[in-house]
Amino acid sequence: MKVELTRLFEIVPLFFKAAARNVAYTKLTKHIMNLNQQNSVQGIINQMALCLKDILNYRLFASVIQRGLDVDVWLDPRMYRKSLESVFIQDFQLTGESQINYLNQTFQDGEREQEFNLENLISYSLNEDNCQGKIYMLPSQNMPEYHDDIVEIIIKSTGVALSKQINIEQLTNAATIDPLTGCYNRREFERQMKKSIANAKREKEPLSIFIFDIDHFKHVNDTYGHQAGDAVLQKVSGIVKDNMRAGDTLSRYGGEEFIAILPSTSKIGAMEIADRLRQKIEKERVITDAGTINVTASFGISSLNPSYKQDDSLDMTKLIEYADEMMYKAKLNGRNRVMPGLIHLCQAQEKDNPTKTYKVK
Ligand code: GH3
Ligand code: MG
Ligand code: MG
Repeated sequence: MKVELTRLFEIVPLFFKAAARNVAYTKLTKHIMNLNQQNSVQGIINQMALCLKDILNYRLFASVIQRGLDVDVWLDPRMYRKSLESVFIQDFQLTGESQINYLNQTFQDGEREQEFNLENLISYSLNEDNCQGKIYMLPSQNMPEYHDDIVEIIIKSTGVALSKQINIEQLTNAATIDPLTGCYNRREFERQMKKSIANAKREKEPLSIFIFDIDHFKHVNDTYGHQAGDAVLQKVSGIVKDNMRAGDTLSRYGGEEFIAILPSTSKIGAMEIADRLRQKIEKERVITDAGTINVTASFGISSLNPSYKQDDSLDMTKLIEYADEMMYKAKLNGRNRVMPGLIHLCQAQEKDNPTKTYKVK
């Protein structure tokens, strides 16, 4: 708060300067207030772009914000991307692919991908403790003399808003994300689980979860070292996260034990998903300084029947206990398997209905 106030004291004199030069400062104040009401980095950047266009009528706009190792690029859709990429790469010493977020504005089709002379591009820096950035603009023909002062106000205000938003996001992440794997932590899992159960009951939709635990992980640590073990945890959780649907979530439940929530997924659906993931983990080779490591994992599944009437907290405990029990069975049955697997389901159904035959892939 103290830092924000100090920053505001830096901005206020600039306002007076702008007001003295007949700038439409009520318009500017409205934009700055809107900037501070945004609750996402994207929202702040969009608002800054609107403000710059509205007040200074810049022709084209791009912005690059770097926080830690992440670099986000916001590009006016009309700006010819290729011509700017080399500028970003040079200014931010980028090596890999950066994330491109297009600005949320609508333009006429004919306006897309305008070529322009890079020499006409002007840039301003934004420097905060937790983020650095650059704003690139193409001025229109008649630029007012005072444009530098105005840009300074807008960029300083954007910096304050961004810095505050990034701090909020970092605090939220620290409370919900496991730092090693980037998966949700156990507390966040429980919060999501309660929500998913309530949703499933309300929508009368199935809900499944699976727990998986890396097999003989102690042996991995003992043979290759703890650091290599950490790399395995990152790789395996990454494979699972990358191969789940958008609405599914993965959390780190314990040391080398993970738990996934699969909304609107039946038990059979969860078995198929888990088995596909099990095979992907089995095939993966984790290359570390200590050597190439192969691991397998054992999965336990449980599902909520939408017609089942219990209170949500009881359902949660039962679902987790059952999935854990199944995972333990998978370990006892030789590891690197899913329990219940499709074969168990078929056997159970065959017992109930012996005349019918089921194909197992
Ligand atoms: P099982 O097949 O029965 O699951 O055998 P296991 O060796 O995987 O099981 P066990 O529970 O005996 O060992 C788990 C190991 O996971 C022990 C612990 O040191 C290790 N571990 C827990 N958290 C971490 C971590 O964050 N990093 C690393 N490298 N190892 C961890
Ligand atoms: Mg294990
Ligand atoms: Mg374990």
